[in-house]
Amino acid sequence: MQMIAKATEKVRVRFPPSPTGFLHIGSLRTALYNYLFARKHGGEFILRIEDTDRARSVPGGVESIIRTLEWAGIEYDEGPQLAPSPGLRPSSPLGRGEGEGKGEHGPYVQSERLDIYKKYAEQLIKKSKAYYCTCTPQRLEELRQAQMERKEPTRYDGQCRKLSNSKLQIANSSYVIRLKVPRTGKTKFEDIIHGKLEFENKLIDDQVLMKSDGYPTYHLANVVDDHLMKISHVIRGEEWLSSNPKHILLYKALGWKPPQFAHLPLLLNSDHSKLSKRQGDVAVEDYIKKGYLREALINFVALLGFNPRADKELYTIDELIDEFDLAKVNKSGAVVNFEKLDWMNGSYIRHMPLDELVTLTMPFLPTDDMKLARKVVALEQERLKKLSDLSEATEFFFVEIPHYEPEILIWKKSPKESVAPNLQALHDFLSDYDGTWDANALESAIKLWIEQKSRGVGEILWPMRVALSGRLASPPPFDIAAILGKTRTLARLEYAIKLAKKL
Ligand code: GLU
Repeated sequence: MQMIAKATEKVRVRFPPSPTGFLHIGSLRTALYNYLFARKHGGEFILRIEDTDRARSVPGGVESIIRTLEWAGIEYDEGPQLAPSPGLRPSSPLGRGEGEGKGEHGPYVQSERLDIYKKYAEQLIKKSKAYYCTCTPQRLEELRQAQMERKEPTRYDGQCRKLSNSKLQIANSSYVIRLKVPRTGKTKFEDIIHGKLEFENKLIDDQVLMKSDGYPTYHLANVVDDHLMKISHVIRGEEWLSSNPKHILLYKALGWKPPQFAHLPLLLNSDHSKLSKRQGDVAVEDYIKKGYLREALINFVALLGFNPRADKELYTIDELIDEFDLAKVNKSGAVVNFEKLDWMNGSYIRHMPLDELVTLTMPFLPTDDMKLARKVVALEQERLKKLSDLSEATEFFFVEIPHYEPEILIWKKSPKESVAPNLQALHDFLSDYDGTWDANALESAIKLWIEQKSRGVGEILWPMRVALSGRLASPPPFDIAAILGKTRTLARLEYAIKLAKKL
């Protein structure tokens, strides 16, 4: 059933987000699948900005999309480019004319292509495939209300369909251009993922193509651009599947051959509702901020609706390109399990070379001291689920003395009166200790000393760990002492002794 381009047809796919302020995790998957498909078939991947809904476009939206794709390593072959110097950028988010971008089919920003859409809308009028509609918003609203009361689907009733389409009709009045959808018959197409589909024409609304503000609607601009940009495959979210019959009718009306379509399964919360904020963050930026690695996030979204092998979950981008197959994408919605993302991220963190990890974690640590950061990161690398966890997990290294409730110094099996003398004995031992100050040496020496003094391991090591970290749970005390150094270790023990005396 897989319909990949014939040998002669070049694979050209596109990712056309609207600059609404952030990139949704579902959009990242769409971008990624398009990218994988293009790379797998030696084709081209195009970024196009769909900003014709002016109310929804936000300043900085384009920049944030481009930066996020850059972060994710999803490189596009054609598309808009950001102005090189932010200081020189004029008020438009891209800078004037920068929608031209790289590639031969620009501009790649729809608001810079308005004349093109106008030309095709007028062509459709001339061919009687579209018509001017001068119905007022008030009439349309009354129509909608009446249809709702009658429990009918809300749609345009075609009042202007019969008019002459002359320019006279629209003189001095506000108008839109609507597609003249056939009233009979069916619109059929084949989707690579969903198979053969057909829709009754009589149920399809006379879609607005040009709005009264002179801007095209998504439907017109999308079809015109996909055709002019020579798109071979449209790979997008399932939420657009219901628009597809309109698009097919538009291709027909314009006399163009439609591309192939693949509508990707919806992303779902664990209760099978559509993925929303309730389950977790949905903006890719939020994941970047929390310190998810790009390899992990890419791996995670790649498997939302597609898993080439039952026995494997970690894939490099090259493996994904190799394995990617639209025919293997599931039809049914994909439940997004963020625990799996944490697991994947932890796994990528554990396997990352330490120096690389340190560079990535520096923004999460309150220090510029790379040597110290390296030690702290090495200590946490095994446990870390995401880079942002590091700030909290290692905070106690970067304060003068950590503060904590004195009660937590008490080892559960020993009386509270023993805490201060035990810590004092340890302090005296360490202050006389002149062996190597590293975790292994400290561990052997302290354990031997405990044995010689016939003390319990817990009654010494528990308060020592709390004194050094200020926490109930932390890495072993020897590792912490090694990183803190002798002076800071002794200072923390002295502070703990003072607290313990008041217990
Ligand atoms: N601009 C649409 C969006 O924001 C594009 C949908 C499509 O791929 O056709 O997702």
